[in-house]
Amino acid sequence: MSSKTQITAQELYERLKNIKVGGQVCQYSLKKCEEFLPVINEILRLKQEMNAVILVHSYVGPEIVYSVADSIGDSYKLSREAVQSTAKIIIFVAVRFMGETAKILNPGKTVIVPAREPGCTLADSITGAQVRELRRQYPGYTFICYVNTSVDVKAECDVCVTSANVYTIVERLPGDKIYFLPDKFMGQNLVNEMKKRGVKKDIKFWNGTCYVHEEYGAEQIFKIRTEYPDVKIVSHPECNAEVVRNSDFVGGTEQMLDYMRKADAKRFLMLTECGLSSRLQSEFPDKELVGSCTLCKYMKSNTLEDIRQALQSPKPGQVVEIAEPVRLRALKSLEAMFKYAEPCAPPQVCE
Ligand code: SF4
Repeated sequence: MSSKTQITAQELYERLKNIKVGGQVCQYSLKKCEEFLPVINEILRLKQEMNAVILVHSYVGPEIVYSVADSIGDSYKLSREAVQSTAKIIIFVAVRFMGETAKILNPGKTVIVPAREPGCTLADSITGAQVRELRRQYPGYTFICYVNTSVDVKAECDVCVTSANVYTIVERLPGDKIYFLPDKFMGQNLVNEMKKRGVKKDIKFWNGTCYVHEEYGAEQIFKIRTEYPDVKIVSHPECNAEVVRNSDFVGGTEQMLDYMRKADAKRFLMLTECGLSSRLQSEFPDKELVGSCTLCKYMKSNTLEDIRQALQSPKPGQVVEIAEPVRLRALKSLEAMFKYAEPCAPPQVCE
């Protein structure tokens, strides 16, 4: 985890100049970077003074990703970084459920989510009370929650999963009756993948969606393939089954970046939030992005000004608080994920 203490407008501009999607202004100028600088350097100073670490999800604005982040990634990677960090304060620049996951794993640290709108259509599609009701309706089922759920929902489930490990975990789980929640598309993709692997399990799923990923359809893929026959289609498992079936690669955000880093191909269509397209444009300038992407209003509701304010005097709604009995029950579902997905788990660190 790197820790910047200062940045110049020119350095920031070098990281942002190729980005044409996902930013506040869609294209960054040196002048814009100069305007960002006072607040950025104040954040970096406050961070040092307060022994804070700033963890930034790939979907937030690139002017945040490439200026104040100690670590950039998806919620799973960032939560692991939170465990490794010795900082007392974690500024989790993302949405609330991600801050909650960091707090579940780091009860002794202060976790702050600066976003003005920290919601998520997927996490907000189901409550803990609804899971309790489902458990009454489906006795004998193993309840699996995607990491994009609230702490109350995680506390009611048996195992938590990420987009990167959901298939492995469901295959490895001993039970053959599975209730997956909250994403209906990931649920259908899970059913299809288990069939492909010859795994016989009765899988039911909830009907939540991510409003960003549900936008995409196979017709977009066919159109782009006609225009660019050499294009590689990269999608997220929160997309529908048709999109997944017609993609060249399907994976979580970190896996998608890794695929593009290693792929020989030059052109990509990325069916996910624009933040990842921005990272592609900034970090792989020799690769070409085609088609369009979709913005998540929740992720993009994080601003540099809000991060500064959260460091100076966090508002009660920004500080993640979890009742200890709920945290302990939610922790069990995360520990079950580490047990089924990895040979060792946080707080031990697997390399
Ligand atoms: S991109 Fe989708 S899943 Fe991620 S925070 Fe936004 S609404 Fe939620």
